Amino acid sequence: MRIVMLGRPGAGKGTQVLHLARCHGLEVISTSEVLRRAAATPTPRGTAIREAMSSGGLVPDALVVDLVADAIDEAGGSIVLDGFPRTVAQCDALDHAFSGEPVDLAVELDISPQEAQARIRRRRTCPTCGVPVAGGRCPRCGSEGVRRADDDLDVVLQRLWVYERETRPVLDWFRRRGVLVSLDGSAPAERVTEELGNVIRCIERMSTVGAASGRER
Ligand code: ADP
Repeated sequence: MRIVMLGRPGAGKGTQVLHLARCHGLEVISTSEVLRRAAATPTPRGTAIREAMSSGGLVPDALVVDLVADAIDEAGGSIVLDGFPRTVAQCDALDHAFSGEPVDLAVELDISPQEAQARIRRRRTCPTCGVPVAGGRCPRCGSEGVRRADDDLDVVLQRLWVYERETRPVLDWFRRRGVLVSLDGSAPAERVTEELGNVIRCIERMSTVGAASGRER
């Protein structure tokens, strides 16, 4: 199964993909984690990525696409993409990276810009793993959660604006393909997890029925 998670900054994508990994056996490709690793290298590419991330802009498509395509190749089977695609050009590149095998599900976690700002003001992130920290300590490595540098208000406003301009058309791209599901991201995290689980089970059942009727023909 191939899933992509979409939604404004602060919508809860990072929290839900941790659950998808734990309970549905999906391998998570976190674009920002992939980018942070590449940004740490002392190369012109590393500098370009660092500058884009710290300003709240998008990393140029060509750089992101190369890095994510490599991560997809390494991961192989069932995956969930967190933070990719964020532009229509990245959608087209994703088609190519999956070599004709389509995305099964695109999930939009829908929250208002006001809710996004309020959540980001409160949120803490693991400085090592980049995952959301809810209870003081990172669920993966136990580090103390910190405020991300790009969670400062002016950078957040820029990220929200970039989302409207660049990423909103991505929702329409997946809607046209009939795979977009919008969930209310302002609901409590456990409720979102439950709804996401229902959607996944429904898709799994449909693909089992599809495979069985294919065998009967
Ligand atoms: P958000 O909370 O905005 O969803 P992320 O942690 O997913 O934040 O991403 C942080 C930053 O990494 C973005 O603001 C952007 O600079 C960069 N980034 C992440 N994914 C992409 C992408 N698909 N294309 C370009 N830049 C990206």
